[in-house]
Amino acid sequence: MRQTTASTCCYCGVGCGVLIEHDGERVLDVTGDPSHPANHGKLCSKGSTLHLTGDLDARALYPELRLGKGLARARTSWDSALDHAANMFAKTIAEYGPDSVAFYISGQLLTEDYYAFNKLARALVGTNNIDSNSRLCMSSAVVGYKRSLGADAPPCSYEDIEQSDCVLIVGSNMAYAHPVLYRRLEEAKAKRPEMRIIVVDPRRTDTAELADQHLAILPGTDVALFHGILHLLLREGWIDRDFIEAHTDGFEDLKRLVRDYSPALVADLCGISVAELQDCARTIGSAPSFLSLWCMGVNQSTAGSAKNSALINLHLATGQIGKPGAGPFSLTGQPNAMGGRETGSLSNLLPGHREAGNAEHRAEVADYWGVPALPDTAGLSAIELFEAVRSCKIKALWIACTNPAQSMPDQERVHEALAGCPFVVVQEAFSTTETCHYADLLLPAASWGEKEGTVTNSERRVSHVRPAIAAPGEARPDWSITCDFARRLEKLIRPGEPSLFDFTNPAALFEEYKLLTQGRDLDLSGLSHVVLDRLGPQQWPFPAAARQGTPRLYEDGVFPTDNGRARFLAEQYQAPQEKREARFPLTLNTGRLRDHWHGMSRTGTAARLFGHVEEALLSMNGDDMRRRRLIDGQLVKVRSRRGELLLPVHKDDSLRPGQAFLPMHWGDRFLNGLGVNSLTLPAFDPISKQPELKHAGVEVEKV
Ligand code: SF4
Repeated sequence: MRQTTASTCCYCGVGCGVLIEHDGERVLDVTGDPSHPANHGKLCSKGSTLHLTGDLDARALYPELRLGKGLARARTSWDSALDHAANMFAKTIAEYGPDSVAFYISGQLLTEDYYAFNKLARALVGTNNIDSNSRLCMSSAVVGYKRSLGADAPPCSYEDIEQSDCVLIVGSNMAYAHPVLYRRLEEAKAKRPEMRIIVVDPRRTDTAELADQHLAILPGTDVALFHGILHLLLREGWIDRDFIEAHTDGFEDLKRLVRDYSPALVADLCGISVAELQDCARTIGSAPSFLSLWCMGVNQSTAGSAKNSALINLHLATGQIGKPGAGPFSLTGQPNAMGGRETGSLSNLLPGHREAGNAEHRAEVADYWGVPALPDTAGLSAIELFEAVRSCKIKALWIACTNPAQSMPDQERVHEALAGCPFVVVQEAFSTTETCHYADLLLPAASWGEKEGTVTNSERRVSHVRPAIAAPGEARPDWSITCDFARRLEKLIRPGEPSLFDFTNPAALFEEYKLLTQGRDLDLSGLSHVVLDRLGPQQWPFPAAARQGTPRLYEDGVFPTDNGRARFLAEQYQAPQEKREARFPLTLNTGRLRDHWHGMSRTGTAARLFGHVEEALLSMNGDDMRRRRLIDGQLVKVRSRRGELLLPVHKDDSLRPGQAFLPMHWGDRFLNGLGVNSLTLPAFDPISKQPELKHAGVEVEKV
């Protein structure tokens, strides 16, 4: 019988509601949920083809184990798989200590899955070696919000995009990466043509086509641009002195710093004209409301934290925060990167927006979990973690719902690390990912449409994700795999103690987790799966007494810092790690296409999604191609300091000379044994530890 189940799309951080049409066994169709506040019934090409991505040939269906590196994996039972994993982890911990194991998880897990993993790593194993692919995606935004505003909380709502008079979009091709939100912006602009849109992006993307002004800055020069804008805002008196005085600290230091960022200097650094810079500052300074949107172009940088803070500085200086149509609004890449940040799924965090490095926070969580203490040794972030695997400091690694062999920079080092790691567990829905190749134990996980829990989207809105059909084969929900493993492990390393993982469903995990947020900035204590069913998706904070969520933060000008005041950060512009030089004169940028998602484990199963772009192409400016005597479609070799790829070149004058672009989606399976990230570098921001995936020096030559 045909039925409909309301759930959410599993791709990007817009968090669109979907209606899944199914017969209890197969998903038959997917449409947008008109009642979901994120999308009001709209879906993009990815969301609307979710029902075409159910190819069982691509799925992991049964646990598979190998007992030696050179052997093939063989099907095994869940009991023997998890017993073996528990024995291997217990043995490693006993022999080498808790920091000899690690967990690398994903922004696509549900909140309940994340919570189970965090409790497993920190309370049971006693390590902070738990990091997530969100490190590659949002960790600079986390740092930006926390340093400037006091908490990792995007203060805006999607409605603010529609209400704003000036929208500044930086380092985000939202037409491809957040299409439904982009459509909301397009419609708002059509209704109110006086709304000004400025796009800052080295490429002239489809998003830039909507803009009144496109600033094609040189890659990585964002901090200089933001300081240059502030210099002009100050000079012209377009700042809100009352707001600065009443609600902020640190303005005098920043004023001194930006005095040196003259229009001529900034124009030169950014590769734009003084007039363009002045236009931009005038538009921002004279707008009744000013909103900024940003994504990976800002975050994936060795200066990602400074870029975030310099952008937030503009909002604090103009008082453009906490009011309709205004505020610094980071767009979250993955569907539940926000949930990961909330549950503490970066190595430096703890549940409820707490810090692993804060003794008081550790004591609060340890007390709540009923364990003597949480580990105080700093955990490893993604790049550090795989380096520790490579140097054999980490000897047992559990990877869930992510494909680091494709997505991490300097891919060959990561492959080396995985190949040499004594015990690798991969908990994954798709058996086709590059990382599965390295699994000693492959655990089949349920996927979209098959599992239940919650997700938080970019505007802090928590949705109830519901299952429509049973998972295929013996695949199980992630929370259930994690808790089952944890119960077996605790019998070995904590014998005789009551179980910490006595959960029988994801609602029970949420109930335990939400009380860890009580009284914190993200208070979720008034929410539950039942409340979400009754009220629909809600924005946090939603404390116990609340009747509805909170659309906008900081309306009272009080920030969650020690003294209630926001902070200006005064940091100099730093150039990206790899300078242009004769051997590698081009700057390689990587990014998304419209119809694919991450490493294509799901979108790669739907033929229709190759209609927009069929294959991986290297995009280059026509002048650079002429200089190298290259013609459109020709096979070329692109080389960086770390690796090389063979692929066709494509003339694309949306790029300035000196730049090249590669889509991020193609991994080993699609590029003759090498993926895009064999070119990128593992340098990372010193604070956020987010790698610089968007700026590698390369050269391109004829094959
Ligand atoms: Fe899914 Fe994002 Fe598209 Fe919405 S915009 S349908 S969440 S991919």
